[in-house]
Amino acid sequence: MTTAGSEILRPTAAILAVGDELVLGEKLDTNSMWLADRIGALGLRVTRHQTVGDDNDAIAGDIERLARCNSVVVVGGGLGPTADDLTRHALAMALERLTDQPNALVEDPDALADIERFYQTAGRAMPPANRVQALRPTSARCLSNAHGTAPGLLASPQVDGQRRVIACLPGPPREMKPMFESLVATTLASLPGACAAPLHVVQVFGLGESDLAGRIEPLMRRGNNPAVGTTASSGLVTCRVRPEPGEPVRGPYRATTLEDAVVEALLEIERLADGHVVGRASTSLAGTVLHDAGTHGLTLATAESCTGGLVGQLLSSEAGASRSFLGGWITYSNEMKVRELGVDPSMLNTFGAVSRQVAEAMARGASERSGADIGLSITGIAGPDGGTPEKPVGTVWIGCHRRGGDPLVRCFRFVGDRQSIRLWSAQTALFLGLKAIRGQGVPKLLREVMDA
Ligand code: ATP
Ligand code: MG
Repeated sequence: MTTAGSEILRPTAAILAVGDELVLGEKLDTNSMWLADRIGALGLRVTRHQTVGDDNDAIAGDIERLARCNSVVVVGGGLGPTADDLTRHALAMALERLTDQPNALVEDPDALADIERFYQTAGRAMPPANRVQALRPTSARCLSNAHGTAPGLLASPQVDGQRRVIACLPGPPREMKPMFESLVATTLASLPGACAAPLHVVQVFGLGESDLAGRIEPLMRRGNNPAVGTTASSGLVTCRVRPEPGEPVRGPYRATTLEDAVVEALLEIERLADGHVVGRASTSLAGTVLHDAGTHGLTLATAESCTGGLVGQLLSSEAGASRSFLGGWITYSNEMKVRELGVDPSMLNTFGAVSRQVAEAMARGASERSGADIGLSITGIAGPDGGTPEKPVGTVWIGCHRRGGDPLVRCFRFVGDRQSIRLWSAQTALFLGLKAIRGQGVPKLLREVMDA
């Protein structure tokens, strides 16, 4: 807890990931990402992530430094039974330095009984090496592990007159997450000043991130409260509106309360992004398409060439997809396009498979042959080979046919490698589908070419 005058500020938290495999790049640190998200949701301000190898002095030094300037330090990993698992020793050393008191490792009888029981249940005797896992610094307590042998550790030292919380959790995510939820989360949420900062988003599609940032520049200035930031991924830009509770409204807002300022920011982003708005959910684009198809009672089918079923995969990854997604075709060859979707062979000869005419015929074939309300089609050149001067790699025609209406077909020139061209294509097809579901026109999208 930090205080400014009489006001209590939000407590800060740092995350320390322990393990040579993380430092050396053999393993991706997904624990810190998960922890930061959860700790933020509990109302603390995460200030730092740090990663350290399996080195006792280095871990102890990091815990000590982080605990001097944060209310909470959450350490992940290094609680196993092997010689390279050093977190409990390092915690003892850090606690001694932070409090200037001895804090030797002692064996915790309850933790030892838990570990023995774990092995009994598995029908084995406890290997002698695991006994070390029952050690804890004198002033810390053990957190029982319902999914593995390594108990966690929780210490609450007084540092410079203020209480700190140091929690050490096992590395395996399936042990770490339930332990955090059941034994650490409540402690953090009840720290003085902890106040959940709700996150609001507006998702926007087919507008360059810098273009959007230019339009909403006053909202994005540093120091604003609520703060607005953007991230982009395969055509989808997510604008995050984040209020800092307990602080005054700052920035270009007319609103005087934080709640009203959040609404003002969301509406202003939606106004400036206009026809590109996907919605306010943080779900995937496919998730939004299925949600809207469901509420409008509409069904979808796909006809894919260069994306090889990626649109179908994105849709079917969402739970409950079967309510609106009927299925699709992967028609890579011309013969399949003709036989399965009814594309006119002379059209393929005259215009080529990557053409407006073929994309339109594929979308029409998908909707008519499946009985779906909306057919989506993709035909293009994902590369790295197959490009020509007229149709370079990245040229993709995307079609959307809503039965009873005029088909919409657009040409794009995506950049990047084969996988990113395929992903951009699939996402763009989903956006055309979303606009068809909503009965809205489609503005010019990022990477769209008009002269094709
Ligand atoms: P164990 O009893 O399994 O040894 P431990 O607390 O010592 O538990 P580690 O040895 O550090 O944990 O890590 C065990 C495994 O957990 C690693 O091989 C890795 O698969 C996973 N793991 C550790 N840290 C992380 C992390 N930050 N992100 C994702 N996975 C991790
Ligand atoms: Mg380890």
